[in-house]
Amino acid sequence: MCVPGCEEAVRHALTRRGFFRGTGAIAAGFAASAAGAAAPALAQPATFRTIVDLTHTMSADFPTYFGVAGIEMQKQFDFKKDGFNLYWWRIVEHAGTHLDAPIHFSENGATIEQIDATNLVLPLAVIDVTAKAAQDPDYLVSRQDIADWEDKNGRLGDGCCVAMHSGWARFVSDPAKFTGKDAAGTFHFPGFGPEAAEWLMRERRVLGIAVDTLSLDNGPSKDFKTHYLWLPSGRWGLENVANLDRIPAVGATLVVGLAKVKGATGGPARLIALI
Ligand SMILES: [Zn+2]
Repeated sequence: MCVPGCEEAVRHALTRRGFFRGTGAIAAGFAASAAGAAAPALAQPATFRTIVDLTHTMSADFPTYFGVAGIEMQKQFDFKKDGFNLYWWRIVEHAGTHLDAPIHFSENGATIEQIDATNLVLPLAVIDVTAKAAQDPDYLVSRQDIADWEDKNGRLGDGCCVAMHSGWARFVSDPAKFTGKDAAGTFHFPGFGPEAAEWLMRERRVLGIAVDTLSLDNGPSKDFKTHYLWLPSGRWGLENVANLDRIPAVGATLVVGLAKVKGATGGPARLIALI
């Protein structure tokens, strides 16, 4: 995946952008698959002024793709009776604000615990398509949207996550609006166009894509082309991201926190942006 000299170039690019000092961690993550040797490195966080929670509160009412409760909580111990509180949870891996691991749409892709921590703290680029999505609920982030973003903000940084901000997060308390389900049962919400995803894979070194909707593909998609392109390539995705309206187009650092469950195809995530 990494041509000779690439690690140097990545380190240089990241240093110049000021995201981290000692950026070998992310660079090593790239190089590891090709060279089989990840040089341990200390990544020191850049300074930040603000912390923004990009996570929706999870509950049984949160709209899900399958229309079933994404979490069921059974109180197993009660403070008054037992002296402590404890629930047993039953969760759908892909519900609420969550991560899609490569295995989700591939036979042998990485499972959650195999995603290197150095690939879970990264620069966040936000593409605002709220105006277009307001006109077209099935809007697909296009190659042109990325070109326009780069015209304004510069080339997408190596090792970043690219997020679609469609404005859909504001509908989350209204499942009918959030899913956009029509009379025929078809969903209507924006997503990443397959051409745009393919371009990001080929032409840029993006680690993850994120959406503020239920799926990386748009609502009506039946072939899940973006999922099938993106995840088998070893990259991850984030769905149902909150508060992207509070994040600048460029300059934030995303921290992806998730439970390290063996063999999991995805799971609830706590997403935090440092600005
Ligand atoms: Zn998912």
